[in-house]
Amino acid sequence: MGGEVTAPPPSLWLDGLDSPITPTRPLARDIDVDVAIVGAGFTGLWTAYYLRRARPEARIAIVEKEFAGFGASGRNGGWASALLPTSLATLAREHGRDSALAFDAAMRASVDELITAARDIGTDAHIAKGGTVVVARTALQWERARAEVREANEFGLGDHLQLLDRDAAAKRLNATGTLGGTFTPDCAVIQPARLVRALAAAVSGLGVDLYEGTPATAISPHKVITPGGEITATHVIRATEGYTAGLPGYKRAVAPVYSLMIATAPLSDAQWQEIGLAQRETFSDYRHLIVYGQRTADGRMIFGGRGAPYHFGSATRPEFDTHAKVFTKLHASLAEMFPTLANVAITHRWGGALGIARDWHASVGLDSHTGLGWAGGYVGDGVTTTNLAGRTLRDLILGEDTALTRLPWVGHQSRRWEMEPLRWIGANAGLAAMSVADAEEHLTRRPSMIARALSPLVGGH
Ligand SMILES: Cc1cc2nc3c(=O)[nH]c(=O)nc-3n(C[C@H](O)[C@H](O)[C@H](O)COP(=O)(O)OP(=O)(O)OC[C@H]3O[C@@H](n4cnc5c(N)ncnc54)[C@H](O)[C@@H]3O)c2cc1C
Repeated sequence: MGGEVTAPPPSLWLDGLDSPITPTRPLARDIDVDVAIVGAGFTGLWTAYYLRRARPEARIAIVEKEFAGFGASGRNGGWASALLPTSLATLAREHGRDSALAFDAAMRASVDELITAARDIGTDAHIAKGGTVVVARTALQWERARAEVREANEFGLGDHLQLLDRDAAAKRLNATGTLGGTFTPDCAVIQPARLVRALAAAVSGLGVDLYEGTPATAISPHKVITPGGEITATHVIRATEGYTAGLPGYKRAVAPVYSLMIATAPLSDAQWQEIGLAQRETFSDYRHLIVYGQRTADGRMIFGGRGAPYHFGSATRPEFDTHAKVFTKLHASLAEMFPTLANVAITHRWGGALGIARDWHASVGLDSHTGLGWAGGYVGDGVTTTNLAGRTLRDLILGEDTALTRLPWVGHQSRRWEMEPLRWIGANAGLAAMSVADAEEHLTRRPSMIARALSPLVGGH
């Protein structure tokens, strides 16, 4: 009958909640609502939040297999960035320059909207808008940084991406071998689990019915089936992101790829003096296999990256959240960037699944004939994008034509992933290739052929 939930993963964030997680009661009868939402991560919760505020009379039910914030929303790197998985140049090619720029501006505005909404909810999610610094640590990485700034300038977005010389970059982030870098002000750090749990409480307080421990076993137009009861609804919203393949009929819609993270014990003031991040900037470098970090409010370094394998059949299981070799590599990368962290204690190791569409294009939409809606495919950039998705789904459900419903990701349909075993071979070859590409550049000092050949498969960032 549902109701039993998986234990929280060992994420620093879930560990940092003020109170333990006590799941709500699962759905145990048939109900009839206006909007049924499947999945209580940021996508599902922001949708309910904005919709209910716009229409306090709307009857909304959310079913969540585990507990609100169990998925990527409670475990991510805490970058509330304006990044999209698709580059501006690609968006402009596919949808036109004005549409691409409108999308970019909406993402930047969404960072501020997220901060305002967090304040309205009344949570202390340890938010600081310190921007993002990305350092270049080889000549080829420096070339990539300059190319990125050139592209931003071509789009008239020079104010949003500044090129930093060696001193300016090292002042923000003193990583070994820094030659320069870039800085954007459009990013805030957050403690994501505090935000997602507070959002769930706020949504319940607004009168939305949240049923945790309630897996949807099937969704179809106007229907959600769960072990304890069926929901009949005008609109059914799929907000399951990296777990979407678990729903019948959606096996090839979104591929789950794992990203893993480590957290250090709180560092000393002297260590932070050496490293930087005085404004709590989020940070990365220009290597191919993405790494990302932040300085937490309590002075820890958290650091994450991809590289864990994709699992056959788009499977997601709690044991995939950890991978000893990847954790060791992450710590080695961190120590290579910041030698002062070579012997620091690692207190938390965790990971989670993020969702990737076949064309690496995030999307949001609502089919007016079937009443089925969705949002997802954010790759690793969903913290802010889910907020934009929630407000867009509100407008779509209300049937309103707004600036948000005209953005180029609305109604975008990605083609399906290949059948297995091709999906497994392709995804893992792509992930392995990015590591090899970094090693290849290190050896040859020329831009990686492998990265260029495979970038359409594994995405630009
Ligand atoms: C380790 C990691 C680091 C990341 N770092 C960042 C970052 O720094 N910045 C950034 O922007 N993005 C980051 N991301 C991505 C970001 O966290 C996600 O894009 C975002 O949280 C997606 O939110 P969501 O609500 O769509 O999905 P989720 O938060 O995954 O929520 C989906 C929910 O659906 C539930 N569910 C699944 N199947 C069912 C079912 N059948 N019935 C009912 N419920 C179901 C799940 O239990 C889950 O709670 C990261 C992701 C990971 C894994």
